[in-house]
Amino acid sequence: MKIKSNFLFAVLLAGVLLSAFKTPIPQKAAPVLYKNFTLIDGNGGTPVVGTDMLVENGRITKLGKNLKAAGATVIDLQGKTIIPALTSAHVHIGTLKGNVTNAENYTKENIIRQLKKYADYGVLNVLSMGTDRPVLFENNFYDEAKKGIPGGARMLSAGYGFGVHNGAPPFGPGMDMIYRPSTVEEVEDHVAELSELKVAAIKIWVDDFGTKIPKMEPAIYKKIISEAHKYDIKVVSHAYYLSDARRLVADGVDVIGHSIRDSLMDDNLLKQMKLKNVVYIPTLTLDKYSYAYAGSPEWIDDDFFKKSLEPGVLDMLTSAKYKTDQKNSPSYKRNNHAFETALKNLKRVYDAGILVALGTDSGANPVRTQGFSEHLELELMVQAGLTPLQALTVATKNASKVLKLDKDLGTLQAGKSADFIVLGADPSLDIKNTRKIEGVYRGGERIDAGK
Ligand SMILES: [Zn+2]
Repeated sequence: MKIKSNFLFAVLLAGVLLSAFKTPIPQKAAPVLYKNFTLIDGNGGTPVVGTDMLVENGRITKLGKNLKAAGATVIDLQGKTIIPALTSAHVHIGTLKGNVTNAENYTKENIIRQLKKYADYGVLNVLSMGTDRPVLFENNFYDEAKKGIPGGARMLSAGYGFGVHNGAPPFGPGMDMIYRPSTVEEVEDHVAELSELKVAAIKIWVDDFGTKIPKMEPAIYKKIISEAHKYDIKVVSHAYYLSDARRLVADGVDVIGHSIRDSLMDDNLLKQMKLKNVVYIPTLTLDKYSYAYAGSPEWIDDDFFKKSLEPGVLDMLTSAKYKTDQKNSPSYKRNNHAFETALKNLKRVYDAGILVALGTDSGANPVRTQGFSEHLELELMVQAGLTPLQALTVATKNASKVLKLDKDLGTLQAGKSADFIVLGADPSLDIKNTRKIEGVYRGGERIDAGK
């Protein structure tokens, strides 16, 4: 009887298996074996030549040498390098279109268009930093954007940031959603509202842009930080001055969202940042862009750059007027000094063992072009003294930590999502090789088909 029932079970099982094999396997689930590439896994170690990677159901299931997998589609990638997809932990989405940034541009279509552009550039995760609008949070669109719309980057949002009346950020077009509390008492409700929107961070602006405009009072940001922490939300600060950074760190800020650019950061501040696990996002490109067009930057004729620009922006950047305006700007010297100081501070911060994450401020205005800026940022980090492998870790593993996506993304190892970029050359030899993109894959699927 026992034997009979076992036999019956085996027959039934075989039937189930057979019918499973008869069902067409969806393309996404079909195993693919990538062979013979150079692996940079995001952890910072030496690139491994001659690596194979098996991807099944959108996940990496095996990584190693001489792998075999029955039934898998084999793709030979001899001479290519694979790196994890990039994450940009400081961007702005939706308000930029053509030569202008405004509220009207902020539509679902424009957001999707920009997320696809990031994906084409291998940037598969972005954190939009405080300039989003209600459209994002309506009709479950934010839930979709977080998971990643088809063919686009995953978008996390800091919702509506905190600024100051008649101060930073300037009350320009598209900045009407920013909270500008004038008393500590107002803060509680605003943070509660953001928590309900399930924002990934809270953004504050602490700056006077070198002018006499009012700067956020420490009492206000201290309250924002303590309220945010009640909901386990991290606070990211726009900052410029060393004195503000010291105070923000003392008051519990989680992320410094730009470089400190007025003076060199001192050992005591670095020690405090390390102790409190404060993250640093240098956004070097924005400072570079603020003076580079007074001359003719190296990238100006590069198609990889030009394709990232919104219509009309190249004409603006290459016009004689833009060039002379930037050259004669009263801030020209300040901006140049800011960039040089930012480079030195990045190296100090990195060497102090503080977590550095890639971010660019791309999308904040027409000059801060989306996609290209992330690759330029990598180059500028190397200029600051990081090795290409360190810069790549900053742009992958570290940045994904800030977005709390590092459990599944940011490095290439068995068990993680197959989010990667195939490059025509090894970026550990020349960081500009990250621009030689031959394929972008998210969850095992190639998604840059529109490029
Ligand atoms: Zn920003």
